[in-house]
Amino acid sequence: MNKSEQIRQVVNGGYCIGCGACAVAQPESIQVKMDSGIGLYQAQISDGVELDKASKVCPFSDDCSDETLLGRDLFPDATPSDILGNYSSLNAGYAVETQSCGSSGGMLAWLLKKLLDENKVDAVICVEPTDNPDERFRYTVVSSSSDVLRCAKSAYYPVTMTHVLEHVRQNEGRYAITGIPCFHKALRALRRIDPVLNERIHFQIGLVCGQMKSSFYADYLIRLAGLDPAHTGRVCFREKNLEGKANHYFFTAQDLDDKENVQRVSNQFIGSNWAMGYFKPLACDFCDDVFAETADFVAMDAWLPKYLDDSRGYSLVINRHPELQGILDKSSRNGELVLEKIPEMDLIASQKGGLNHRRIGLRYRLFLKARNKEWVPTKRVSSSDDHTFLFKGIQHARQWMRRKTFEAYLSQRGHSGVEIFNRKLKVPLLVFRVLNRISASDRLGEQPKMEELIAKYHLNGRNR
Ligand SMILES: Cc1cc2nc3c(=O)[nH]c(=O)nc-3n(C[C@H](O)[C@H](O)[C@H](O)COP(=O)(O)OP(=O)(O)OC[C@H]3O[C@@H](n4cnc5c(N)ncnc54)[C@H](O)[C@@H]3O)c2cc1C
Ligand code: SF4
Ligand code: SF4
Repeated sequence: MNKSEQIRQVVNGGYCIGCGACAVAQPESIQVKMDSGIGLYQAQISDGVELDKASKVCPFSDDCSDETLLGRDLFPDATPSDILGNYSSLNAGYAVETQSCGSSGGMLAWLLKKLLDENKVDAVICVEPTDNPDERFRYTVVSSSSDVLRCAKSAYYPVTMTHVLEHVRQNEGRYAITGIPCFHKALRALRRIDPVLNERIHFQIGLVCGQMKSSFYADYLIRLAGLDPAHTGRVCFREKNLEGKANHYFFTAQDLDDKENVQRVSNQFIGSNWAMGYFKPLACDFCDDVFAETADFVAMDAWLPKYLDDSRGYSLVINRHPELQGILDKSSRNGELVLEKIPEMDLIASQKGGLNHRRIGLRYRLFLKARNKEWVPTKRVSSSDDHTFLFKGIQHARQWMRRKTFEAYLSQRGHSGVEIFNRKLKVPLLVFRVLNRISASDRLGEQPKMEELIAKYHLNGRNR
């Protein structure tokens, strides 16, 4: 296929994640806009134009270098790992000052603030919450510590980078930017063809990502909290519950008309929707980078028994950048950070769910696409049908659930509550639960050893 056409395949196939890199590479031919029919940013491409540059930067285009090649060039001296990405150090811990305002250990808010305080950057590009029901979170450029703290916590909500990257282009300075793995990959590729961005972006700071969510997800949670999405302002996906475990957090939503009225829903009530793929973009089912392999530094939740009991939250962090290593070491010594070294195995175990889905389940999804003779982005794992009947059933159920949640929410949207949504989800949910129950009882008999799982997480080439 003509390389210039790669990005059209991505968009037509439904794999666009809305990062906005293509619109920065070719602004005259591409716009990235919110598609209200799916609640995701999507690229809109003009007809009859050459798209060589855009195809080079799109994270799902086969003309974009993969994470392994990018990582090898970026971090040549780091310890190689085809699961974690190359790394210099692996730690668990928290930042004393920002633990309470962060999603997990507050490591990212702390690092961004530190980069500003120590004059390593002039501005930070991160994601801020808003009061606007049509855009509940967006990328923003900030240059004060208080603004960095205001933007702490995870946004499980679609955002796009075009406007902030345009800002960088137009305003000289040194920047750090936060992002999920596919956004960092796109930005690395963009920096290769854009010397201005390359010179001005000094640090790419990553968040481990299990999946993105459509904007429908926030609206659905608002309804679960008993409010009306059209009259709800600020939401927070990660309000800590200091009386529970670290993973017992809340979703909170603030009534726009009565700001004292803040309603919440417990993660224990809604948590299983992550495994079921509620409101997940298709792209996330065809993504093999869990650990933001091209970011300089990455943080994730410490979902390990040893850290879960502390409701204030711990982060696991991977560093790949020599200058950041100096900052981490110094700040650990002076007590700003509480950090302990951890082995590779612990990090991998903490993201077992994401890795099962993205390194093992992905093989089967690639197989299905190939069997149907559908175009699919080239991945670093190969397609395979060699899975148990049960495992395949769970993958099918997840895909069904993913599609159904979008469909069901569109039916619900013009009405209040979640009754229509729940009714439409009843059968897929039942199937998914039955399959999972069988799978759980299967696992009770013989638990797969972590070493066996890790062997399956390794990359084994390309799907074609
Ligand atoms: C979509 C998504 C999926 C995730 N999936 C997982 C997972 O499967 N497993 C796991 O362990 N962790 C996952 N995380 C990361 C986790 O939720 C925490 O963000 C991470 O532990 C860092 O916490 P912290 O306290 O150090 O960060 P904080 O101190 O809270 O700082 C977070 C920083 O990231 C910025 N930010 C928040 N959301 C976004 C976004 N969408 N895009 C770009 N920047 C953003 C904020 O503005 C802030 O600067 C996910 C995060 C996101 C956004
Ligand atoms: S570069 Fe990003 S926004 Fe553009 S088509 Fe690819 S995924 Fe979509
Ligand atoms: S799962 Fe992959 S494709 Fe989906 S948002 Fe996360 S990094 Fe991007």
